[in-house]
Amino acid sequence: MKLLFLGPPGAGKGTQAKLVADKFGLLHIAPGDIFRQEVREGTELGRLVEGIMAEGKLVPDDITTQIIEKRIKSPEAAEGLVLDGFPRNVAQAEALAKILGEMGTKLDLVINLEVPEEELIQRASTRRVCSGCGKPYNIKLDPPKTEGQCDVCGGTLITRPDDNEETVRQRLKVYHELTEPLFEYYNRDGIVVSINGCGDVDSVFQRIAEALEQKGLSGKRDS
Ligand code: ADP
Ligand code: ZN
Repeated sequence: MKLLFLGPPGAGKGTQAKLVADKFGLLHIAPGDIFRQEVREGTELGRLVEGIMAEGKLVPDDITTQIIEKRIKSPEAAEGLVLDGFPRNVAQAEALAKILGEMGTKLDLVINLEVPEEELIQRASTRRVCSGCGKPYNIKLDPPKTEGQCDVCGGTLITRPDDNEETVRQRLKVYHELTEPLFEYYNRDGIVVSINGCGDVDSVFQRIAEALEQKGLSGKRDS
């Protein structure tokens, strides 16, 4: 099974993509997570992307595509994958089609997670991320068990440097200009399904699970 989550920043793609990946044994691939880890580790790539991300702009396509291609072709992706944040523009979508084509496969479904714009800005202001392992939280919608502390690793929760209102607006602008055209791109294959992304994490996940079932994608395949 090969799924792609599309939706504006803050729609909850990461949270839902991880849940779907865990449930079906798929590899979750999120460039944003990969880049943030590189920043935490202070690598050369991390230093390169840190400023770009803080401004809400896109990391260059060649860098992003190269990193993602490696993951898509890794043995961990044998059961399938959930893409979350890649592709983010038409050039990346074409690169992805080429990569999957070389592997003799293609995307099964594109999940469009829909959340109204006012709520996105609101959600960003209550979003936190673990400084240790990168796990996302929302102090209103999905709080940790202990305030300010990661449930998984005990790390301190921080606000993402790109979650201030100005950068969120810039990320939304990039989304409208560069990412939204992907709906037309994938609609040609008739593989887009829209899901209401409002409400708590479990209700949204339930809607996604139902959509996968309706498309006949919920049973694990043997071969
Ligand atoms: P969100 O979806 O909430 O904006 P992400 O974690 O997916 O958050 O992305 C954070 C940042 O990482 C983006 O604003 C961008 O700078 C960079 N990034 C993520 N995915 C890509 C991509 N496919 N191409 C280029 N840059 C990316
Ligand atoms: Zn953590």
